[in-house]
Amino acid sequence: MKLRLSLEYKVSLMVGLLLFALLLVVGYTQMNAYRSNLMAEKTEEYSVLAGMFALVYSPTDGKAELARYHEFTTRFMEADPDISSVVITDTRGKVLFANTRPVKNSRSNESIDFREPTLLGSGQRGTITVRFATGSIDSLLMEMTASLLYTFAFALLIGIVGSLLIAKAVTRPLRTLMLAAKEVAHGNMNVKVKKTTADETGDLVDTFNGMVKALKFSRERLVEKANTDSLTGLHNHRYFQDHLRAELKRTSRYQRPLSVIMLDIDDFKMLNDTHGHPIGDAVLQDVSDILVHGARKDIDLVCRYGGEEFAIILPETDADDALVVAERIRERVAGRAFVGRDGADIAVTISAGLAQYPAHGESRAELITAADLALYRSKATGKNHTTIFSQEMRTAAA
Ligand code: GH3
Ligand code: MG
Ligand code: MG
Repeated sequence: MKLRLSLEYKVSLMVGLLLFALLLVVGYTQMNAYRSNLMAEKTEEYSVLAGMFALVYSPTDGKAELARYHEFTTRFMEADPDISSVVITDTRGKVLFANTRPVKNSRSNESIDFREPTLLGSGQRGTITVRFATGSIDSLLMEMTASLLYTFAFALLIGIVGSLLIAKAVTRPLRTLMLAAKEVAHGNMNVKVKKTTADETGDLVDTFNGMVKALKFSRERLVEKANTDSLTGLHNHRYFQDHLRAELKRTSRYQRPLSVIMLDIDDFKMLNDTHGHPIGDAVLQDVSDILVHGARKDIDLVCRYGGEEFAIILPETDADDALVVAERIRERVAGRAFVGRDGADIAVTISAGLAQYPAHGESRAELITAADLALYRSKATGKNHTTIFSQEMRTAAA
């Protein structure tokens, strides 16, 4: 399985490790410098001691020589418990006196040579070699290393926690945005991300919200366009079917009536032929207006069913009440003087057929067929009137 680390963990781990590495380098350099300092201090200290003792214990004659050297080296070693040996040699390297002792913690030894001109007396030069154990320096450095490591580990922890918090502050709004984007991808356009900061992430949130708003607007426009007839501005055939399906669902649940009226302009082909298509279009628009105003506002749904056919859905309405609406519309159309090309009046009539749910049809298709049959009957019986569906029309059509 591939381990998937989130961005914030990656960032904080990187920052923490970087901090740790930086501290290690700084610590190592500092420790080395500190050790060199300690060594230099010791050298300085021994050099001063050697000079002082040489002045005091410088032998003057052969007889007292060994006793003086002994005293000199003993006092020298007493000055510092790290000293493991003090050796006195002459200028040719011959050992004149050596004083040694075991020293604790002497894992490593260092030696320092000094030349003390007065040591051997009578103007002769000699060399004092001091060997000393670095144990005490090393254990001091070990202690320091340990406490430094504790500090580094603490810094690492602080670094990781701190950067985790910072990273979280950065990624939290990103995660919120990601979830919101998923919502939008699933079609939910009512998403609005809350802006919590006034920085770049805040700008991103603003941009995202603006984008969703624009998307929602353009989608609504598209849906509206897809459901609207461009010539009349009425709902189109597709919307009629969707709406009737939804209305029937609701109606059947509450056992309420619903009616559908189908309307068709009479002899419209002839009107087109006589006056031309543009006049035909204008008549279609005027008839649409009459339909909209003749139907009940906010209750009935007027649609252009096709060519010069219209359909009205009348929820909560039985056939008798629907007949009132259909007749009102039919009469208004018949009474209106439509304007022809040369300004002359054109008489237009419409025929209508209506059917009621559930008495005349229990499904959408049945109900539409029933209204269509009723319309067909109106056409067949002289046009310009409304017919309510009756069962015998089905047998007559079959
Ligand atoms: P009926 O009384 O039997 O309905 O006769 P009709 O002439 O109205 O019916 P028919 O179906 O024969 O002709 C319908 C005509 O409607 C034919 C078509 O050119 C016209 N039409 C359909 N859509 C439009 C349109 O958008 N604009 C115009 N100007 N005419 C249209
Ligand atoms: Mg017609
Ligand atoms: Mg027709």
